[in-house]
Amino acid sequence: MNIILLGPPGAGKGTQSAGLVERHGMRQLSTGDMLRAAVKAGTPVGLKAKEVMDRGELVSDEIVSDLIDAELAAMGQETGVIFDGYPRTAAQAEMLDAILARNGRVLDHVIELEVDEDALVERITGRFSCANCGALYHDTANPPATPGVCDSCGGTEFKRRPDDNEKTVRTRMQEYRAKTAPILPIYEARGIVSRIDGMAPIDTVAEQIDAILRG
Ligand code: ADP
Ligand code: ADP
Ligand code: ZN
Repeated sequence: MNIILLGPPGAGKGTQSAGLVERHGMRQLSTGDMLRAAVKAGTPVGLKAKEVMDRGELVSDEIVSDLIDAELAAMGQETGVIFDGYPRTAAQAEMLDAILARNGRVLDHVIELEVDEDALVERITGRFSCANCGALYHDTANPPATPGVCDSCGGTEFKRRPDDNEKTVRTRMQEYRAKTAPILPIYEARGIVSRIDGMAPIDTVAEQIDAILRG
């Protein structure tokens, strides 16, 4: 099973991907996470991407597609994959087709998380994650059960992304509207798009994704 989770920043792609990994043993391929790792490690890709990401603009299609290609090539074909935050442009969608074909994979579902844009700023500015295991939280909507302690690993250090501020979020939303939303018709023409109300509680969204995967 290979699926794309599509939705604007803050729609819940990362949160739902983590659930799918846990429930179904799928692999999450997040270009955002890969780019942040490259920035942290100071690789050539990271050095190139950092300022673009800080502005909330899109990194080049070649860079992100190469990251995805390398991950898939290193993986067995039995493991299902969730593409989280990729593809984000028509060019990336085309590159993904070639990458999948090369790796003997077929795209089963494109799941769009529909969200109310006004709620996204609130979601993004309240987002934080465990510094140890990466578990995602939100100040009000999804805090750890014990304040200051990660539910998943017991860690007590948390971090916030430098691009999770209101100004950058607006740019990221514009990028989504201008470049990412227009790729949906490509997949609609193939009859593989499903839409989910991303404003529903996290568990409800997860149940609806599972219903789509069951077919
Ligand atoms: P969010 O989950 O909030 O949408 P991501 O973690 O997916 O954010 O992405 C963070 C930043 O990384 C983006 O604003 C962009 O600069 C860069 N990025 C991530 N994925 C891609 C991609 N597929 N194409 C271009 N840039 C990307
Ligand atoms: P994305 O990967 O699409 O940018 P995230 O999964 O990181 O989005 O979610 C953004 C923020 O919103 C996080 O703080 C997360 O805890 C919270 N969140 C995710 N899904 C929901 C939901 N269904 N309801 C309320 N808050 C949510
Ligand atoms: Zn943790």
